[in-house]
Amino acid sequence: MKLPKVDYHMHTPLCGHATGEPSAYVEQALRVGLSEIGFSDHAPLVSHPDPRYTMSMEQLPLYHRMMDEVRGRYPGYTIKVGLEADYLPGYEDRTRAILEAYPYDHVIGSIHFIDNWAFDDPDERVRWKDKDINRVYRDYYDLLRRSASSGLFDIMGHVDLVKKFGHRATEDLGAEIEHTARVFKDSGVTVEINTSGLRKPANEIYPSLSVLKIYQRAGVPITFSSDAHDPGDVGRDYDKAAELALAAGYREYRVFRARKVERIEGLL
Ligand SMILES: [Zn+2]
Ligand SMILES: [Zn+2]
Repeated sequence: MKLPKVDYHMHTPLCGHATGEPSAYVEQALRVGLSEIGFSDHAPLVSHPDPRYTMSMEQLPLYHRMMDEVRGRYPGYTIKVGLEADYLPGYEDRTRAILEAYPYDHVIGSIHFIDNWAFDDPDERVRWKDKDINRVYRDYYDLLRRSASSGLFDIMGHVDLVKKFGHRATEDLGAEIEHTARVFKDSGVTVEINTSGLRKPANEIYPSLSVLKIYQRAGVPITFSSDAHDPGDVGRDYDKAAELALAAGYREYRVFRARKVERIEGLL
């Protein structure tokens, strides 16, 4: 087994809930032996701007200055520049405008909000107790499908984030996930194997093995990420991530550049 050499999901302090300058993330990537990284800080939230969640529109040029600066500091190391953008129904045009304003290597599409409820925010966790968990899961998968179909994104972020606090659906969601896998395949998106779930109450990589097997059978490609909000988490738990991918039947993963697949790397 070869450890994945890329990590496409990491943040900067601009999002309001991450620590460490970009150079510290690069230093950790070098320490753990990644051949390249990609930043993907939270894109400005177009529905309800909130400095706890994302950079503001006014900070977007600063993000790019920070990226230019860190690339200049490590000229021999591959540092890709992306964004993690929310899929917000009804805001597709405004989201597209943000994504087209600068060139990116990769754009991660994520669902963090269901009807404006930040279901993965620890401060909003209390609202889970009033929810029908099966309904939350179904709404989440519906949003995942719509985000893939929107054509806005290259990579689908943490594709079972609803499990973050340990809330589990009691219904069989197999058909729901199969449907989502078909839409992902038809849309040409890539799923990230995101190790941050291991650092959360769910204590599982996003997505779990049973879910990942469904994507594998549908022919949906993967890539790897840590979703680091702290430099020490770059490339974290990549042995577990590679084992999970292999157990699901994957043998390779995608490397991105300029929002295209630059090449395929093997896990064996
Ligand atoms: Zn974040
Ligand atoms: Zn996210």
